[in-house]
Amino acid sequence: MTDTDNALVAKHLVDKRRRRRALEQTVSPLPNETRVITVSNQKGGVGKTTTTVNLASALARRGANVLVIDLDPQGNASTALGVMHRPEVTSVYDVLLGEEDIQAAIQPTTDHERLFCVPSTINLAGAEIELVSLVAREQRLRTALESFLRESETHFHYVFIDCPPSLGLLTVNAFVAASEVLIPIQCEYYALEGLSQLLGNIKLIQKHLNPGLQVSTILLTMYDARTNLAQEVAQEVRTHFPTETLTAVVPRSVRISEAPSYGQTVHAYDAGSIGAIAYLEAAAEIAERSADPLTSEGA
Ligand code: ADP
Ligand code: MG
Repeated sequence: MTDTDNALVAKHLVDKRRRRRALEQTVSPLPNETRVITVSNQKGGVGKTTTTVNLASALARRGANVLVIDLDPQGNASTALGVMHRPEVTSVYDVLLGEEDIQAAIQPTTDHERLFCVPSTINLAGAEIELVSLVAREQRLRTALESFLRESETHFHYVFIDCPPSLGLLTVNAFVAASEVLIPIQCEYYALEGLSQLLGNIKLIQKHLNPGLQVSTILLTMYDARTNLAQEVAQEVRTHFPTETLTAVVPRSVRISEAPSYGQTVHAYDAGSIGAIAYLEAAAEIAERSADPLTSEGA
């Protein structure tokens, strides 16, 4: 390594230590009312699942009781949280069809004692079609979640819903059940493509099904600080969404992408990694922000 390389590595380590210390020195407030946050973007591979599980785990590590609802038939969130999701397991599919309640489907995680998951199974792949003929087909997750939150002995501070990469009935159920939408945006080409369609759909949901829904949070992911492109995308997103976009940015990191193959979040897999720190920073910021539009900066 050259002297310049050595200097860069040293700077990186000092920076990491400073950021970890800053996190350790702050306590995150816990919301009185459960914040139900849908993580959505109809594009696949933009970091929805990665963001869902790592933010949820980060908030649990910062003192919150957190539930992840896996609403993607692929079950990647269930995998990343090390939760069983074979076809015979009671899952969100049974909940949507009204055959089981959330209490019957919820599982603890090995990631953290305060982090729970309602898994998805492959059965969910057929749910988009099966739901069509059911009454109140858009409200089924909301109804199940409301009764669960009312009756649960554990008070949940956050519920995260991981959406499939489409705008079908599963995603509509997630929007109707939630108070907030978090949109992960990948800092790559075409990052903003499709965003206006997503925002348009959210407007329709607000108008017809859930007036309380708001896009509260945008998180920039897979950020590569060495490329101009990533900086340009980040700048553009911040210009369009100055209050929604978190200051914290999730870098492109090998540790983040490796963790799910061990059935782990990045926090369990490598707590000291830069990816783990970034998700903890994002979680701390989310906790600081109120979901109440009257008290948020943007109002
Ligand atoms: P989605 O749920 O939107 O389809 P994923 O969260 O599954 O997207 O991410 C897509 C792929 O990108 C996965 O292989 C994941 O491990 C990887 N990935 C996500 N975030 C990062 C990151 N910050 N750095 C590196 N790889 C990432
Ligand atoms: Mg996913």
